[in-house]
Amino acid sequence: MKLNFDPHAVPSPSYVVDEGLLIKNLELLKSIIDRTGCKILLAQKGFSMYSVYPLIGKYLNGVTSSGLLEAKLGFEEMGKEVHTYSPAYSEADFDEVLSYSDHLVFNTFDQWRRFKDRVKNHPKPIECGIRINPEYSEIEVDMYNPCFAFSRFGVTLENFEPEELEGISGLHFHTMCEQNSDTLARTIKVVDEKFGKYLNLKGMKWINFGGGHHITRPDYDIETLIESILFMKEKYGLDVYLEPGEAIALNTGFLVTTVLDTMQNGMPIAIVDTSASCHMPDVLEMPYRPEIVGSGKPNEKSITYRLGGPTCLAGDVIGDYSFEQPLTAGDKLVFTDMAHYTMVKNNTFNGMNLPSIVLNTVNDGPKVIKEFRYDDFKERLS
Ligand SMILES: *Cc1c(COP(=O)(O)O)cnc(C)c1O
Repeated sequence: MKLNFDPHAVPSPSYVVDEGLLIKNLELLKSIIDRTGCKILLAQKGFSMYSVYPLIGKYLNGVTSSGLLEAKLGFEEMGKEVHTYSPAYSEADFDEVLSYSDHLVFNTFDQWRRFKDRVKNHPKPIECGIRINPEYSEIEVDMYNPCFAFSRFGVTLENFEPEELEGISGLHFHTMCEQNSDTLARTIKVVDEKFGKYLNLKGMKWINFGGGHHITRPDYDIETLIESILFMKEKYGLDVYLEPGEAIALNTGFLVTTVLDTMQNGMPIAIVDTSASCHMPDVLEMPYRPEIVGSGKPNEKSITYRLGGPTCLAGDVIGDYSFEQPLTAGDKLVFTDMAHYTMVKNNTFNGMNLPSIVLNTVNDGPKVIKEFRYDDFKERLS
């Protein structure tokens, strides 16, 4: 892959999000909206770089949030539809959540009963939905599977309370992770078989397919997605919402880092100024191996390094990578696909500063949006 910015020209470490690549993803998502009349929301859990919310809002219909803070951010920074789903709303936050939200999804009928008067008494009309658990998912890792045994996400068919649906205008499911549309088509079939009788009820206006749709990946089958959306629209006359996070920012961002030192201990080792634990925690949690521009798999190129971060956590290891030339202090390394589930998850463990946030703009090249300093570290502690 060829970089279209100079990694020496941005702060290190920094997340560099490429505006042109983001627009490409957004155009594809917009084409699905245009072809089906569905609505697509940004799941802020995956990507909350709010300096680009105005841009995202030109293409998509709004945001989805997991609670008060994300709802407020989406309301303030995008100002389009704000949907909120929380596994459990707190009494203390609920009225403020209401004030920012257009759609609220409840995880249980108990929560719906507890809060429905507050919704009804609110001056603004709010669409309410129930999250269902169709007990069908093709995710093999429990950590990311909302339908694993004893999952806390959503109401199963057995626990569904049709007599409590007055005031409910939609159902929501979220059972996918980084999957293609064939998985969606099979999931829709289960949702239709199990919950179709409720989708058919008079008060039902919408269904939300959740996230996990890997729409912007090169081999994604758009036509099957379109068929799934149109199936639900036509069979039940519902509006269809999708709320991907990852797909919006997929392959649009980089993490630029600098080699701080190299050493030997049975193999060459390089310490870089970014940390797996603090700045790309999915590398340790998923786990997965991010790509570095110009590098190879271990032993593919002439010299293989184990790359680690500057924290004191022994396991803060990013992985093994081979290079044509030995690394030296000051070299820049550029990790790819670092926009989603990075900035939103980072932390300042061990006094690590947060990477700067840079937008590589279409017209003017890299623009530093934000740099972090001691005060940001200190503010989170007391
Ligand atoms: C995480 C999440 C999403 C976004 O998922 P992606 O995998 O980033 O597309 C959408 N909806 C809900 C309820 C989620 O928990």
